[in-house]
Amino acid sequence: MGTRTSVTVRAPAKINLQLSVGEPAADGFHPLATVFQAVGLHDEVTAVPAPGGTFTCEVSGVDAAMVPCDSSNLAVRAARALVAAAGPETAPRLGVHLSIRKQIPVAGGMAGGSADAAAALLACDTLWGLDLDRAQLTDLAAGLGSDVPFSLLGGTAVGLGRGDRLTPALGRGSWHWVLLVSRSSLSTPAVYRELDRLRAGRLLVEPRVSEPLMQALRSGEANALGAALHNDLQHAAVSLLPELDQLLEHVRDHEPAGVLVSGSGPTVAVLAEDDQHAAELAVALADAPGVSRVLRASGPVHGCRIVDPGVRGVAP
Ligand code: ATP
Repeated sequence: MGTRTSVTVRAPAKINLQLSVGEPAADGFHPLATVFQAVGLHDEVTAVPAPGGTFTCEVSGVDAAMVPCDSSNLAVRAARALVAAAGPETAPRLGVHLSIRKQIPVAGGMAGGSADAAAALLACDTLWGLDLDRAQLTDLAAGLGSDVPFSLLGGTAVGLGRGDRLTPALGRGSWHWVLLVSRSSLSTPAVYRELDRLRAGRLLVEPRVSEPLMQALRSGEANALGAALHNDLQHAAVSLLPELDQLLEHVRDHEPAGVLVSGSGPTVAVLAEDDQHAAELAVALADAPGVSRVLRASGPVHGCRIVDPGVRGVAP
């Protein structure tokens, strides 16, 4: 059993370069064909030991007031899931206090909660000295949410099934994004429900990964990737938040390499041709309608990483 003083893990936000959504199955889940990219915008989760059976958290940083600090916090749920996997002998001794520092917009379609859950899994595993392997952590992650395994993995990856069956995607170079964070937020389940409503009665083909998108990733050509970006949820997000349409039009007027709503929105991801172009777009879009913050991030970046392993003490 480890006796570290604290462990800090950094977890990236994601953009879905493609998000194709099929007909919901009997269990309500939608089959997906998605291509994730982890980008350089991070939350940090620090785990410190607490008495056995104690699971608490505090949240600071951007949008912290929108994040629950009780047992519904995804990072707390992750810690509890790890305890359940630790077995009956060890479990009663395990407890943790989690400090979450947020940079990823909350309810913005960039998987901030999932990032915190993935970070908490890795931080608690290390803090408690459980040493689960990646496959075990990934299984636990999938049980917490479809985007959680990708946050552990990072990079650029194809996600099938619920988005949790991951395969790293080949790609060349770095991609430069400008992220337009909305003043509004959208609930992911509400966006899926809206998609189902808008497509009711339509015959849907099984979602497939886009070959032009995969080729564009391999080419390193921003304009090719921009042309191949696709998100089935965009239409539904715009239907729930019509001002998003105005924002997308406004962005297109500035001729980016590409633009799409990130995941379930409402953050809008703007692809630039290169770093310099991203800097110019960020300035030009600073007063875009309905936008609270303009951020820049490049991808792909690593998945969850331990940035401070704390100090290991002597086992009691
Ligand atoms: P996704 O892109 O995975 O669909 P999202 O980025 O749109 O998700 P999140 O930021 O993950 O949305 O937040 C979704 C909801 O989850 C929020 O309304 C928030 O109250 C709740 N939540 C619970 N725990 C967390 C957490 N650690 N960080 C952010 N939100 C959390």
